Parts: sequence; C-alpha cells; structure tokens
Amino acid sequence: MFCFQCQETAKNQGCTIKGMCGKEGSTADLQDLLIYNLKGIAVIASKAGAAGLQVPEKTGLFMAQALFTTITNANFNDEDIINWINQAQSVKKELFESVKGRIGSELHESATWYSNDVAGFKAKAASVGVLATAHEDVRSLRELLILGLKGISAYADHAAVLGVTKPEIWNFLYDGLASTTKDLSVDEMVGLVLKAGEVAVTTMAALDSANTTAYGNPEITEVNIGVGTNPGILISGHDLKDMEELLKQTQGTGVDVYTHGEMLPANYYPAFKKYSHLKGNYGGSWWHQNEDFETFNGPVLMTTNCIIPMKSKNTYLNRLFTTGVVSYPGAVHVPDRVIGKAKDFSRIVALAKTCKAPEELETGKIVGGFAHNQVLALADKVVAAVKSGAIKRFVVMAGCDGRQKGRNYFTEVAEALPRMPSS
Ligand code: SF4
Repeated sequence: MFCFQCQETAKNQGCTIKGMCGKEGSTADLQDLLIYNLKGIAVIASKAGAAGLQVPEKTGLFMAQALFTTITNANFNDEDIINWINQAQSVKKELFESVKGRIGSELHESATWYSNDVAGFKAKAASVGVLATAHEDVRSLRELLILGLKGISAYADHAAVLGVTKPEIWNFLYDGLASTTKDLSVDEMVGLVLKAGEVAVTTMAALDSANTTAYGNPEITEVNIGVGTNPGILISGHDLKDMEELLKQTQGTGVDVYTHGEMLPANYYPAFKKYSHLKGNYGGSWWHQNEDFETFNGPVLMTTNCIIPMKSKNTYLNRLFTTGVVSYPGAVHVPDRVIGKAKDFSRIVALAKTCKAPEELETGKIVGGFAHNQVLALADKVVAAVKSGAIKRFVVMAGCDGRQKGRNYFTEVAEALPRMPSS
C-alpha cells in the first residue's frame, strides 16, 4: 500500500504498511483499484462529452459516491470496496457500449481493463496505486487533483441527496480524473488543480443552497451536552437527509436522538430544532468515538466520515450501523433509499428501545450556529460594537486539532490569546 491522502499519514510522508487511521493495506490497494476503474469511466465520459454525446446523470452520481467512499475514515470494509469495483466495471461497460465507435479507439488502459475475480483485482491493484506515477512532481499534481475531486464528490453527493445536481460538476469529475491518465505539462496540471478549487466553491454553494432550502438557515443555538433518561440513538457524519428521516422515525417512540462529531451542526437548523427528542450533542470530536460510543449505550449510526476502527476493548460493534458510502466490517449497513421512500431505520429504533440511557459525560450547553446568513443578520450590531469600541479585534480560527500529540495547535492558539481587560 501507499496512501498519503490525509494529515495523519505516517512520518508526514505516506502510510506503507498499515494506515495510521487503521486502514489495512488490502483496503488501501482495493481503493486504488476502484479509483483506477473510475479513471476508466472518466476517460470514456470525458471523450463522450468532447464528442457532444450525453453521459447519463446516474454516471456522475456514481462517480461522486465511489470517490467519496475512498476518503479518509469512511470505508474500512474490503468486501464493500470489492462491491464498488464490480459496480464501477458495470458502469464502465454500460457507458462504453453506449458510445463506442463515436469516441475513437485510443483509450487509456483503465477504460478497457476488466477482471471477474478478487484475485484479478489484487494482482492489478499492485500496479495502479499512487506510486505508479514515477515522477514525483507529476505524481504530486495528479494526486492533489484527485484529492480535490474527492472533496468535490463528497459535497456533490450531499447536494444530490437533497435533489440538487449540476452537470458541470460531473463533467469536471470526468475531465479531471481523465487528465490524470495523460502526459500533461506542469502548467496544464496546475491549471486543473486551480480549476478544482473553483468547482469546489460552486459545489459548496450548491450544497449550501440545498441544505438551507430543505432545513432553513442555521441559527445561533445553545446545544445541550448532557443526557436524558430515555435510551438514545447517536448519529454522526454529515448527511442531513438521514438526520431528518431518523428524527421522523423516532418521534413518539420514547427514543431520543443525539448528535456526535460531524453531525453537531444539525442542532443549528430550524427544521431539526423543532423535534423535542433531539436532545443535543454527546461526547467529543470524531477521534473520541471509541470511548464515547462505548458509554453511549445505544445504537450509533454513521452516515458519512468519520468512522474509526474499534479497539479490542470496545464492545459496541453490535450497536454500530453504517449507511451511504460508509462501511465497516461486522456493522449492519442500512440500505439506500428507494426512490420516493425514506431509508428504513426501524432496526436501529427497535434496538435502541432495548438499550440503557446514555451515561452522562458532561452537563451544560455549547453555543454554535454562526453560519453566514446568521452573521450577516447581525452585521449592523457588530459594526456598531466595533464603532463604539466594544469589539476591538477579531480572531479567525479556521481548522481543528488533530488527534496526535503536537496537533493541538488550535487549542494552544485559543489559550494564548490575550485576555480582554474587563471594563
Ligand atoms: S487515509 Fe489512512 S492510510 Fe491514508 S494517509 Fe491517512 S492515515 Fe494513512
């Protein structure tokens, strides 16, 4: 394996034996092969687009979801990645059959490579990973672009779940990924990386619009961090549609819902605040989940990143559920929704009813919800406070601490900020 896609990578260079995140070498290799097949789809789709042919919307969505499943802390399940590879080969074949004869015959090998078995996958995976590009600068630029495409894919998938899609996003996924199979100049590769930034902003705007149209603008909110006496379901990840459907399916059941880690912002949306059984947020950030999930006592639903491997002392596997692009060996996976219907969370609700209430970790409230619309709504008050001298400086902190020692930069900065003299 060779994976250097996240800030936890070994020695800040690359994980080569097992991921610092816990990802096995076999999983990393299969993810490489999945991306190789996605490159093949991209090569065909990009050529089809250049020839003026229509590529089905479902191909773009598949591409986004498949890239999304390869991001850090989303999928640790070899069996599931094999399933994604098989699907990618089917998508590739179907697309090729629909455009063959009209896109020329010179196709990168990734567009024509197929295998029927896992042994074939493993053999091929060994030669198509990150290090298959020998030149370090070319490799860096190609992989930087692929990382950008993965981020765009995550946002695009979330927007698509809420019914917002943009053909230009799918087209850039095709053209961007296809470009990594070509010998391009440094200027061309840098241009594509910059374009990825531009498309990421377009995609974030689409997602922001999808979220706020569906659930309202986030508001400044005090979020309870204590626990109630009912059993609960803990939900993490970023999928707000899953949050909505879980809240509806737990209403009136005597089961409360708590957010964890990535799902904390759900507490700020007006559409979710109306549910009295949304009790608040439980535990710390994603990397505290081994401890937090243990003491939560009830079922845990991971809708997207970040799931981390369990430790041997952990006992919550029989309470762990995944959905969407997330998968973990031994956890029950809630299937995708059928068009026009909600996902079925009844198994999670039934299990919750048999569980003890969460163990209290802390009490009180935290404040969040400072989204752009809310900040702008307060702009006149902020400007007045600056003019009166009540606000003397702004400190912007964008980012979060990592889990390794020495990666608590943001905490250190916050603690080192000068105290305002009391007036
Ligand atoms: S995703 Fe995992 S394997 Fe890849 S660089 Fe990060 S820690 Fe290493």
